[in-house]
Amino acid sequence: MGEAIVDDVSEQSATPPTLWERWQRVPLYVRIILALALGVVFGMALGERARMLAVPAKLIIRVLGALAPSLILVAVVHSLMTAKLGAGIAFRLGWLLLLNTLVAIGIGLLVANTIRPGEAAHVTPAAENSAAGKSDFDRFLDKLMEAVPESLYKPLVDNNVIAIVLIGVGFGIALRAEREQPVRPAVDIVEIAYRAILRVLSWVIGLVPLAVFGVVAGVVGTMGFRPFRALGAFVVAVLLALVLQAVWYLLRVRLLSWVRPIKLLSDMRDAIVMAFATDSSTATMPVTYKCLVEKVGLREQSARLGALIGTNFNNDGTALYEAMSALFVAQLLGRHLSLGQQLAVVGLSIIASVGAAGIPEAGTVTMALVFKAVGLPLEFIPLLLTVDWFLDRSRTVINMLGDVNVSCLMDGRRGNAEC
Ligand code: ASP
Repeated sequence: MGEAIVDDVSEQSATPPTLWERWQRVPLYVRIILALALGVVFGMALGERARMLAVPAKLIIRVLGALAPSLILVAVVHSLMTAKLGAGIAFRLGWLLLLNTLVAIGIGLLVANTIRPGEAAHVTPAAENSAAGKSDFDRFLDKLMEAVPESLYKPLVDNNVIAIVLIGVGFGIALRAEREQPVRPAVDIVEIAYRAILRVLSWVIGLVPLAVFGVVAGVVGTMGFRPFRALGAFVVAVLLALVLQAVWYLLRVRLLSWVRPIKLLSDMRDAIVMAFATDSSTATMPVTYKCLVEKVGLREQSARLGALIGTNFNNDGTALYEAMSALFVAQLLGRHLSLGQQLAVVGLSIIASVGAAGIPEAGTVTMALVFKAVGLPLEFIPLLLTVDWFLDRSRTVINMLGDVNVSCLMDGRRGNAEC
């Protein structure tokens, strides 16, 4: 379902493209890198005053956080409505998926606790200013924040009319594209809701370069380049953890299936390259399935279970990344996350990875949930976005390899094993 959003982002017209349309056609990662460079220049030029440029980022992250719970809800309902599995296979598949995700989070936390990338710099978030010390600007910001919904449902309870109107406008426009869609089986309703959420998300994600610009300018202006040193260490730590997760997959494949790991990697290279290039495990899914059946030689049922069904739930790279990000930001702030809080990070990272659609930057959307649960300031999420154009691609490869791993294990030790 996720591909629709990627193609659907802009409706094409025959008239020459406007400047905005041309900007939209530049790949997201290029826009983010440009925004990053511009942010550095503005931050250095404006100094402390660049703090104001971080406002759009706060609003964007707030909207992403509002959309995340609905995305998870609809994704889980859809997966359960459409999965056609016997109880025995569903149980085995569920167990394999859960185990892989737990291992991914365990590896992420272990690496983050060992390397401690966040300790390369210590920063204080602006949000930690006490209420008494609030400037006019902070008070204005609070008012602005109130108008932007932090949840799709809370404004209805609070009678927050401005937020209700904003939600109505967003979804009204998003659903215009669906208005002629026939609704036959009941699952169509869930699919339309899912597409509408993804469409609104794609608009917000289109604003991510603006968030990156503002945050980078604000950080450079107020704290200099210290936080970026830590980000470098974070990138290395995440890459190391992702490699360890790949090793776990290959070891399990070697021990518990008939497939040979080196040949598997070589047979799957089209899917690996595609996952990295498209930044979307959903867009890569057909290629993953084809490679598994035609090159690796798995039975269709096994490939279907891992690559088509499992992929809805299976985002180990995302889970690992969300847990590491939470720990990284806690380290950056010099905060200690208790064992209970780390366990909350584990639980929420599982949920966040299940709900993350296999599309670019989906992990960032659900990350807001993890941060909120352990009281970490959301304003650091845009800072992570400065390196996410690369890390997202890397974790997408692992998300795809997770599907491959499950398919091989479901195929068993012999090529013709009963599944
Ligand atoms: N881009 C990832 C995927 O497609 C999801 C994420 O953002 O973590 O699998």
